[in-house]
Amino acid sequence: MQKRILLCLAHMSGNEMKYIEEAFADNWVVPLGPNVNGFEKDLEEFMSGGLPTDAPADAKKVVALSSGTAAVHLALIACGVGPGDEVMVQSFTFCASSNPVRYLGATPVFVDSEPQSWNMDPDLLDRAIADRIAVTGRKPKAIIPVALYGMPYRIDRIMEVAAKYDIPVIEDAAEGFGSSFAGRRLGMFGRFGVLSFNGNKMITTSGGGALVCPSAEEGKHILWLATQARESYPYYQHETIGYNYRMSNICAGIGRGQMTVLDEHIAHHRHVQELYCELLGDVEGVEMHRNPWPEADSNFWLCTLTLAPGLHVKGEERAYAQVVTGAVGGAAGVTHAAATAQTDCQPNRNVEAMRMALDEANVEARPLWKPMHRQPVYRDCPAYVNGVSENLFKVGLCLPAGPFVTDDDVRYIADVIKNSIVK
Ligand SMILES: *Cc1c(COP(=O)(O)O)cnc(C)c1O
Repeated sequence: MQKRILLCLAHMSGNEMKYIEEAFADNWVVPLGPNVNGFEKDLEEFMSGGLPTDAPADAKKVVALSSGTAAVHLALIACGVGPGDEVMVQSFTFCASSNPVRYLGATPVFVDSEPQSWNMDPDLLDRAIADRIAVTGRKPKAIIPVALYGMPYRIDRIMEVAAKYDIPVIEDAAEGFGSSFAGRRLGMFGRFGVLSFNGNKMITTSGGGALVCPSAEEGKHILWLATQARESYPYYQHETIGYNYRMSNICAGIGRGQMTVLDEHIAHHRHVQELYCELLGDVEGVEMHRNPWPEADSNFWLCTLTLAPGLHVKGEERAYAQVVTGAVGGAAGVTHAAATAQTDCQPNRNVEAMRMALDEANVEARPLWKPMHRQPVYRDCPAYVNGVSENLFKVGLCLPAGPFVTDDDVRYIADVIKNSIVK
């Protein structure tokens, strides 16, 4: 029987246990210690590795945290976001980019994508900010572009817009760890850069994240917030609300082991993408999402394709016939049972039929992320839309791309896709 091919699964290098055993031997089973420091140093080296040689590589400080979501949360706090503020967020993203805005009692203002990278449209961002200032009389406090599926956003243009209004950028590079734009790693352009090491990301610490900070001083401030914001008295003295967001020394040990295979992982994701392009490149009605500009160098965390609305896929008549049990990312925990088989914004029937065909062939595929401006929980938030992300959501699918996906797997997946199309 065909083994199940998953989207992206953690893959251990074999070096992780060494660091974990050291932590036990030295009694560092706490949220600080040599692995945390070592992991941060590894990350700083990796992140500056993509810089042009004349750039100030040593300026940034990386702080390891308990999750990427925590990194978004602390970056927002450092940008001064509070109740009643607005934050410009790419609508085409996972909820972790925008939920922390809500944690702070602030409002995300969603900005749609441009069709090349599928990420934040810089021109629309510019107009949206001008409009927010006109409507509210106040400037948004931060801008969050997202490297969806690892694809670089148009960061040169986004930084221009940010400079024009003097608003800080928080790069959500949680999916784009190792991607670069014009030779520089994503996460190094904005005031802050968010990384994630969840179980399904480019590398894992079982769960974890990091914040790339603009200076040692800002890094220290983030670290202080992440460790309950303690004042230096012989007793607990608190003058600011803090968080328990530091990465543990055990998790960081896994991270150090993972760093030894990061380059290999990225190379493998890119190889899988190339193979999909080769095998599906001339299939009519099927289009792989590729690097759109010479400056863009995606890590291809997930490989994605779109299906032409007119393409017919076997089993279309059965699409959405049943209420689905379980949800995407079900491994992450409890999901609510779906109340209905359909919602008012969902992928086209041929896309759902393709997902079902792959599922029946033991391949995990997943629709593209549903834009935040179409999520019921964000119904009341302002949104500046051009139809790009909603349309992509209706036509797109994510395909398996992780280190466990072999060349034979990719050929098998491409065959399932081709054989599912009605000739
Ligand atoms: C995974 C992810 C995050 C958050 O990372 P966690 O470590 O899971 O908290 C943030 N933004 C995006 C776009 C992500 O995909």
